[in-house]
Amino acid sequence: MFEIVRRDGLARLGKFETRSGILETPALLPVVNPKINTVTPRELYDEFGFRAIITNSYIIKNNPPLKERAQAEGLHKMLDFPGVIMTDSGTFQSHMYGEVEVTNEEMVEFQKSIGTDIGTVLDIFTEPFWTKEQTAESIVTTLERTKHACDIKGEMMINGVVQGSIYQDLREDCARKMAVMDIDVHPIGGVVPLMEQYRYTELVDVIISSKKGLNPNRPVHLFGAGHPMILAFAALMGCDLFDSASYAKFARDDRMMFIDGTYRLADMQSLDCNCPACRGHTLESLRKTDKKEREKILARHNLYQITNELALVRRYIREGRLWDLAEIRCRAHPELLNALRRLKEHRTFMELTDPISRDGAMFYTGSETRGRPIFERYRNRLMERYIPPTDKAAIFPDSEKPYSKHYVSDFNKVRTAGYTPIVLSPFGPVPAELDEVYPLAQSLFPQIADRETEEETEEFTEAFLKKMGFIDVRQFGDIEPGEIEYDADLLRAKAVSRYQFGIEATEALFRGKIELVVSRKTGKIRNIISDGEHVLSMRAGDGLYTLRPEGAKRVLKAIPSPKMRAIVMDDAVPYVSNGRNVFCQFVIDMDEELRPMEEVIVVDKDDNLLATGRAQLIKNEVKSLRKGIAVRVRSGNDES
Ligand SMILES: [Zn+2]
Repeated sequence: MFEIVRRDGLARLGKFETRSGILETPALLPVVNPKINTVTPRELYDEFGFRAIITNSYIIKNNPPLKERAQAEGLHKMLDFPGVIMTDSGTFQSHMYGEVEVTNEEMVEFQKSIGTDIGTVLDIFTEPFWTKEQTAESIVTTLERTKHACDIKGEMMINGVVQGSIYQDLREDCARKMAVMDIDVHPIGGVVPLMEQYRYTELVDVIISSKKGLNPNRPVHLFGAGHPMILAFAALMGCDLFDSASYAKFARDDRMMFIDGTYRLADMQSLDCNCPACRGHTLESLRKTDKKEREKILARHNLYQITNELALVRRYIREGRLWDLAEIRCRAHPELLNALRRLKEHRTFMELTDPISRDGAMFYTGSETRGRPIFERYRNRLMERYIPPTDKAAIFPDSEKPYSKHYVSDFNKVRTAGYTPIVLSPFGPVPAELDEVYPLAQSLFPQIADRETEEETEEFTEAFLKKMGFIDVRQFGDIEPGEIEYDADLLRAKAVSRYQFGIEATEALFRGKIELVVSRKTGKIRNIISDGEHVLSMRAGDGLYTLRPEGAKRVLKAIPSPKMRAIVMDDAVPYVSNGRNVFCQFVIDMDEELRPMEEVIVVDKDDNLLATGRAQLIKNEVKSLRKGIAVRVRSGNDES
């Protein structure tokens, strides 16, 4: 069973329960060649902390002494590895060396007989140079074999490998058909040639199209991906498991993996590595070391590079900053940068799981940052949900944030003349009322703008001004003060609500007499009281609202189900009413437009209010996961 503990977009920190223990993801499985132990499985476990490895059952089966031992004592004892053992089936051998002379059933049964935790179907490796017809035909066979493997897998878990070469529709279709089978892990297969040839843009298409069809309740394994350079980017696209044979292969070849690429010992000018394997060595001393011994040092060095990067990927997911890391890593090679640019084309899909707000600030690392789904979301919400308070606009250049503090007297001046202040930010036009909403205030951009940002801001601003129907637009310096009175806090209070909950819900929330409770210390809005009821509280961190029970009740009356709601089963009602979190298995239905970290109203099946909280997962995930928190419920006066 797979549980999502923490997420950052498609990336997730998960717990995968197997009979050999819980595997925390993202995880990398070093490939262990049962015939050559460059680094022993025991060392992988004890020294490097790898909790899972992968080995090849086809090689074991074809080596009589190994086969006999594996069947007599089991893989865990034979390899002396107490963690999770995954086995590959010979599919990769067929890609490397042509036909393999075994059947799928034989391979599945053999993997069971040696005590594999996660076995693999003998699927058909779809080569990138295959025609679409050939690929489609082979998938039919792969699907049949996978179905059969599920029927006979017994206690063993099974890998259902998504194939489909470079054809996105075939990948998605294959994934969809596998999603309904009793599969435990989904490797994305047939991608090694793409990675070897640096065809990363196609790799992006392959991963995303597979993810679209797959069931989110299973870990996704990017078969053959193990270079530290690619880990952050692949995790960003929702890959949970990786494996590496290269750490040993490269070592045998006198090649060292680093975060920015792989280097031959012969070409290197100096060692410059401080990992435990290299410590005490210089390039000269390494070159003089006996070949066997050196191979071991280099393999250990390569493993340390992998574990370091994987730890960093986990940390960035936890901090909600994986985009930053992936964008930085993709600068290691122009083809990776190409891939990052390609990912922009998939931003509508990426947006589904992108959180409404994050704890930390967003960093702009370059024009590719504009491909993040958050830019598109801001644009869509502003265009659809913003209502300008006046019909005249005053244009301000970008400045220090928050804009309303930096431009305090100028904003006041133009407002008294009946103008709405609009700042031209790297996100596009930002009306003064929205300047504190995430990520507008919680982001850092270089002051010297790039051309792409300038052009996009200009284009977006033009479309925005036109859509809003301003009759007069001018630079703020050209405006003389007037005598019009306005309430900046009330304008902000309503604009943020529309941006967050939509126009209709805002009408219900801002009804009758409105009182604003403002912090004496910071001057910021804290509570919204409508007709004597405390309906909303504004969070200082992300400038967005927490929905109070009185506010939730109004939304329930005004907005039809299941909008803004998570509907839970009767069994969960007493727990949720007492402030306990909503777990996936108790959710009957949920608004599919809710994004992670968005406000949710938890109701019973008769639409009675039980609690309010924040979504951790989206509907599609909640429906498929059997474990984990769907909505983090707010209890008592907790306003986070
Ligand atoms: Zn090193």
